[in-house]
Amino acid sequence: MIKNILFDLDDTLLDFKMAEKVALTKTLEWAGITPDQRAIDHYSKINSRQWERLEAGEITRAQVKLSRFEIFFREEGIGADPAQAAARYESLLGQGHYWIPGAQELLENLQGKYRLYLATNGTASVQHGRMDSAGMKEYFQDIFISEELGADKPSLEYFRICFDRIPDFKPEETLMVGDRLTSDILGGNRAGIATVWYNPENLPAPDQPKPAYIITSLDQLPGLAAEL
Ligand SMILES: [Mg+2]
Repeated sequence: MIKNILFDLDDTLLDFKMAEKVALTKTLEWAGITPDQRAIDHYSKINSRQWERLEAGEITRAQVKLSRFEIFFREEGIGADPAQAAARYESLLGQGHYWIPGAQELLENLQGKYRLYLATNGTASVQHGRMDSAGMKEYFQDIFISEELGADKPSLEYFRICFDRIPDFKPEETLMVGDRLTSDILGGNRAGIATVWYNPENLPAPDQPKPAYIITSLDQLPGLAAEL
């Protein structure tokens, strides 16, 4: 029987792609780059690669924040200061929020039936700003932001710290729900808890890391959790 549900935040409950697009558009305008789809796609590709390097343990979070703008400006031939851009972008990212369709209803539905936890990789100031803006902290027993924990998903260290903070924690009573295979699913598998891959684009499931369960819409989660 499931008692604890750990939720990823970005692109699982809140639409990070939308928040990113708004903050990036304003940052690019500041840097003198036309914020068209080409520029946004270029930045996104560089950004994803830097996060993969973080997940692989190659670089730190601080390096991700700076290097994505350093590389982007260099490849775009722009002379703007990457450190200033990074600070501006982060401040903008912490403002406003955009729910994934059905996410707020899902939390309303699950609240009281399960102990809900937020398990996110991210910058504390940004994530607190977005969660406050969405008014969503009230749904959670505890909030685990990697920057505050000093470890990131998918490391076992991250999950150990989370589990230590969950009262009467039992792995067989715990689910990890998230959209990202390389952090949420790989991390949950390593930590010995069941994983639910939120896969709204209905992409083919890989063999590794293998999610225990797959949902394509958040409204499928209550039924699944009740069966386990
Ligand atoms: Mg995510």
